[in-house]
Amino acid sequence: MENGVKEGEKKVCRRCKETYETTSNAPSSCRFHPSFFVCRRHDDQRRYYELGPDDPPYAAKFYDCCGAEDPNASGCTTDFHVSYDD
Ligand SMILES: [Zn+2]
Ligand SMILES: [Zn+2]
Repeated sequence: MENGVKEGEKKVCRRCKETYETTSNAPSSCRFHPSFFVCRRHDDQRRYYELGPDDPPYAAKFYDCCGAEDPNASGCTTDFHVSYDD
């Protein structure tokens, strides 16, 4: 038995966490940053890591992909939404 994909089925995108309809998923539907929001501690160390909740406020923070310093900045790349089933 196969369950046909219903038209307008709603899924949650695992990348941007938005709900979308499979029928309206387009290459420009999902806006996201392909890289992590990173934090640079010292210029000489050049060590990057994924930003955690306890990171100190003095550290330079930005998206590694585009350099946006606002964690809420809209994505610099668009693509199809990706469901948890894909
Ligand atoms: Zn970006
Ligand atoms: Zn998405």
